[in-house]
Amino acid sequence: MQTNPSPSKPFVVPVFLPHAGCPHRCVFCNQHSTTGQDEPLPSLSAIRRTIREFLAHRKERARRTEISFYGGNFLGLAPELITLLLATAAGFVQEGQADGIRFSTRPDTIDAARLKLIARFPVTTVELGVQSMNDAVLQQSQRGHTAQSVREAVALLKTRPYILGLQMMVGLPGDTPATALATARQIADLAPQFVRIYPTLVLRGSQLALRHFRGEYTPLSLEAAVALVADLYQIFRRHDIAVARMGLQAGPELTPDADLVAGPFHPAFGEMVQSALWLDAISRHLEKEGLQKGDVVLEAPARLLSQIKGQKDFNLLDLLQKHQLRSLEVRANPDLAEETVRINGQPCARW
Ligand code: SF4
Repeated sequence: MQTNPSPSKPFVVPVFLPHAGCPHRCVFCNQHSTTGQDEPLPSLSAIRRTIREFLAHRKERARRTEISFYGGNFLGLAPELITLLLATAAGFVQEGQADGIRFSTRPDTIDAARLKLIARFPVTTVELGVQSMNDAVLQQSQRGHTAQSVREAVALLKTRPYILGLQMMVGLPGDTPATALATARQIADLAPQFVRIYPTLVLRGSQLALRHFRGEYTPLSLEAAVALVADLYQIFRRHDIAVARMGLQAGPELTPDADLVAGPFHPAFGEMVQSALWLDAISRHLEKEGLQKGDVVLEAPARLLSQIKGQKDFNLLDLLQKHQLRSLEVRANPDLAEETVRINGQPCARW
């Protein structure tokens, strides 16, 4: 069945299938921690119930709705199971309650046979867990595939009308800022419609936790992860690729008392990255326009103000100090377009 996908932000109905279809455990992974769910494969009636409950809570029916299978390796499941799950979700699409189906899967599960298997269902979006385009990093993370597997999977997927999302991680074993930047550039060259960027966390029960306890692995600091992801974000935006998410979603398992052993987790990680990007953009503008030691007024739409000010006004304090400003005022301006900041009346270029 062919569909007409649109890359605009969908309303996602998540169905978590933790580790379902995984050939093995990658060193960083513990889907129980990230999905908050233990059971790998809920029954079809439980899946239908979850979908109905989510749909009942949807406020804006105008938004494209996708039923999504996450948390495992969807195309790694047995073909009969893939068919059953897709048929279950497709029922909601046929009833007009959803517009399509999405799933995440490993690059090495994309082949002609599986694409043929899913072609009769209303699949709109496919997300690939790429994690890195560096073979040494992939090997140390025990991913079990190479960067070439990613290139081949993308080439095959691009013969179909799916919206394509690629996920990458930073701070994996053997990863450096240079390999992460190279990964982002190679992913950008593959031209997906969107990406997700996840800093590696040390999760209880993962192999990485063992390596961490042995002193063989040190995660990125929060500060380093924010700075690195800000650089990656700029690469994707310069290529017009949407960044759908930065950092894992907060949940009860992602706390030090539960499954978070170490690593750069923050519930507002994405906001911190945006804040770092604004600090950089505003700083460059002040220098370029010779506004050091002057009076500066920043105007922005209300929803951007917290990003511009930074956590605990960090950005404002940094700008005041670094540029020795006489005064710095921040005003909400409802007339400004989204993502627009004006400095003393002039637009501030972000990239
Ligand atoms: S990263 Fe993906 S393939 Fe690896 S164990 Fe986790 S869910 Fe499975």
